[in-house]
Amino acid sequence: MKSILTAGVCAWVLVCAGLPAHAEWVRRVTDGIMGTRITVELWAEDAAKAEEAIDAVLDEMRHIDETMSTYKPTSEVSQVNDKAADGPVHISKELFDLLTTAQQYSEITEGAFDITYASVGYMYDFRKHVRPNEEQIAKALPAVNYRHVVLDPVNQTVRFSQKGVRIDLGGIAKGYSVDRGIDVLKRLGYTRAFVGAGGDSRIIGDRFGKPWIVGIRDPMKGEGNVIARIPLVDAAISTSGDYERFFEENGVRYHHIIDPRTGHSASKVRSATVIGPYATRTDGLSKTAFVLGPEKALEIYNRLDDIDAIIVKLDGTIVYSKGMQRRPREADGTPP
Ligand code: ADP
Ligand code: MG
Repeated sequence: MKSILTAGVCAWVLVCAGLPAHAEWVRRVTDGIMGTRITVELWAEDAAKAEEAIDAVLDEMRHIDETMSTYKPTSEVSQVNDKAADGPVHISKELFDLLTTAQQYSEITEGAFDITYASVGYMYDFRKHVRPNEEQIAKALPAVNYRHVVLDPVNQTVRFSQKGVRIDLGGIAKGYSVDRGIDVLKRLGYTRAFVGAGGDSRIIGDRFGKPWIVGIRDPMKGEGNVIARIPLVDAAISTSGDYERFFEENGVRYHHIIDPRTGHSASKVRSATVIGPYATRTDGLSKTAFVLGPEKALEIYNRLDDIDAIIVKLDGTIVYSKGMQRRPREADGTPP
């Protein structure tokens, strides 16, 4: 694959020679939006237009970051956190719809996914090795419950039913931004593309008869080691891992997925990968196994027709959802 620089220069040379620019894969990797790495790759007839399309994807992601980030005091979500316990706050249609979607994932995952985890979660700072003590957790825990977020579709408002509630969309915003990025590319006419934000990615089309290959990191080993390479066409994939943001203290690993029932790190698996049709959905589901454990999570995933999953258990063994298991030959009609 060509680097962006080489691709840009080639296209420029051809245009200057009076020839039409040739079709090629154009790829860009950008750090710093939503605190993560964004990768966009697409098949383009015109490299200059492709670069503009990638700019448009990144602009869309910056806009989502500006709206949703709790690290930015001016964001819409920060405003909601400041005011919604005092009464209804009018919010944008985009945020309203995402809060509605978040609630649906809370219901599907039987409360494992819960954006009000932040009522306790805000007291953790994994970079600085800061965590709340038991007393602080016990005091804040009653505010953790997605049912405390009251949405009014008629007035497009959100209200918290009690004090102390905070929300954070960190568990779904990356997947959502990937879907919005794919929408931008589709609108511009691209039919073969990859958009990834940290652990959340989505693909449209194939690589000319071949699938895209997405590697799943081995949570027991360092970056670059994979447990599986998954071939994908027109699909999204999200991986949650306990190695993403964590610190260790007296042999205990404190990491960024919080069990809404206890306020502690949810540590029932090492990693969970969810494959589905779009990234908002796979992101919303990928934290479930950490909170509920592999058996219960697989039960939920297996109930969802459009979802597959690969879970690395605490002992390092890997379990798959039923759609990923090899079926006996008689069962799928394959001739012996
Ligand atoms: P990434 O941020 O790399 O995409 P995940 O998809 O695993 O990683 O999401 C982890 C993030 O989800 C955390 O950093 C936090 O913002 C948020 N989060 C933590 N616990 C929960 C939870 N129980 N429900 C919803 N979101 C959560
Ligand atoms: Mg994610």
